[in-house]
Amino acid sequence: MAKGGQPIIIVDPKKEQTKGREALSMNIAAAKAVASIVKSTLGPRGMDKMLVNPIGDITITNDGATILHDMSIEHPAAKMVVEVAESLESSAGDGTTSAVVFTGGLLEKAEKLIENGVHPTVVVKGYRLAAEKAVEILESLAISTDENEKELLVNVARTSITGKASEKYNRLIAELCVDAVLAIRERGIADLKNITIKKDIGGKIEETEFVEGIVIDKVALDREFPLRIENPRIALIDTPMEVAKTANKAKLQISVYGDIENFVKQEEAALFEMADYVIRAGANAVFCSKGMDDKIAAYLQDRGIYATRRVKNEDMQHLADATGGRPVRNIKELTQKELGNAGLLEQDRDGDQGKTYLRDCKGAKSVSLVLRGGTEHIVDNLERAVDDALRVVKCVVEDGKVVAGGGASEIEVALGLRAYAPSIAGREQMAIKAFADSLEDIPRAIARNAGLDTIDTIVNLRAKHAENKNAGLNVNTGAAEDMLEKGIVDPLRVKVNSVKSGSEAAEMVMRVDDMLRAQRTEMQNVKPEHMASTYDGMAAPQLNMRR
Ligand code: ADP
Ligand code: MG
Repeated sequence: MAKGGQPIIIVDPKKEQTKGREALSMNIAAAKAVASIVKSTLGPRGMDKMLVNPIGDITITNDGATILHDMSIEHPAAKMVVEVAESLESSAGDGTTSAVVFTGGLLEKAEKLIENGVHPTVVVKGYRLAAEKAVEILESLAISTDENEKELLVNVARTSITGKASEKYNRLIAELCVDAVLAIRERGIADLKNITIKKDIGGKIEETEFVEGIVIDKVALDREFPLRIENPRIALIDTPMEVAKTANKAKLQISVYGDIENFVKQEEAALFEMADYVIRAGANAVFCSKGMDDKIAAYLQDRGIYATRRVKNEDMQHLADATGGRPVRNIKELTQKELGNAGLLEQDRDGDQGKTYLRDCKGAKSVSLVLRGGTEHIVDNLERAVDDALRVVKCVVEDGKVVAGGGASEIEVALGLRAYAPSIAGREQMAIKAFADSLEDIPRAIARNAGLDTIDTIVNLRAKHAENKNAGLNVNTGAAEDMLEKGIVDPLRVKVNSVKSGSEAAEMVMRVDDMLRAQRTEMQNVKPEHMASTYDGMAAPQLNMRR
């Protein structure tokens, strides 16, 4: 109170203020709401969500990041949880749902502790200690891929796409993804930009293929051109193969009869000269990134040379990386040295449309996956699955470490944390136990979604862990089994990042004890670009489907 008993007003009265416990429980409720949305999708028996976009397109998915991204979640604390999913998605490409369920669990248990009189900062400290210890335990559990690399990679990919793509072709898709990532691995790093994904709607899923080379959406200009060329010698031309059009609409003055014929002849001579450089270099396939005069194309094709034009710049780059050819800007400089190689050039054409495959490119730095399926939905779904698989395989190729899935690592870490808790004096140990319980929310949700009894499952798993650290849940039988033997493995990076981002987000939510919200009326004066940083929608979790 200031002199005279007047209160000092430090908060704009137009702002709504929520303080202390009330703010905390509101935020926790919002975060838990997010977790509960995705919980039912977790694990191999998880359910799907149907998402409808503003123009009515439907996506059916059980991918946590996709679901949360497609809902316009407005509550600030809920957004923090969505960010956990996004961080997993971008750092590891998988584990989003688990991380969100875990974060929701941490907050739910924190709320109980706080209700029982434990101060939020104590919970935060306990969670931090637990997170550090959990990472340590995860690392000690990890299995190296030094032996059986290929098999472990295929298993990681299969585990990540379980329930996402067609069950029947799960192994095939996983193997193709592993082949692709291994083909582009360079000094321990796998840059997924070097894998081009092509979609082919109308085919069969089982015809999805890995091409050690590149596929482009172009065919030879000549319909009659042979469909295959073995061991093609490939010229990449990055300049127009046509006579430059005169600028400024210059008029051609033709005064003498026969001049026009001469002019045409001269033009043709210039065109054929360009073609001759290609022929002299020894190429029998030409990919031009710019225009190509029909006359040149015909001239080349008459001589058995495949020719196509207006190849996209990115495809030119992939062509260069796959075939080892060098794009030339000045056609006169084209020599044999600049040509690329492949085992086979093959066209899959349908009239003037189709694709050209350059297969069996030795030492290709850029490779392709051609995804096939009967309908656009199938192929899009396949694409999401492949995207996940590629990213988990990348993680494991780079880190060389996996952990047993099916809840095995969570149970083992939880047991480790419960053993560790008593060594910490003070109430933090209660938070460490709560952290362990939150990890077990993951196998619990996998079990519940598979229609299994959650208490029995957890008890069984814990008991089995006395003899086998890799015991996880067989969702078909409910038994605790060795997940390594069953080929159910996840990248270590996914689990480590999940523990880290989940506990960081929970901590951020718990640290807030005061929320200020601009009133709606005030908001109307705020320019849209400033809205993102304004706390809004605080009262209730607003989980709207975007329409
Ligand atoms: P997330 O978004 O967290 O990856 P998922 O729905 O993909 O969510 O579920 C991943 C969890 O399911 C992981 O813990 C993984 O080990 C487990 N899992 C995957 N396949 C199986 C399986 N066949 N049996 C048991 N658990 C599995
Ligand atoms: Mg997954």
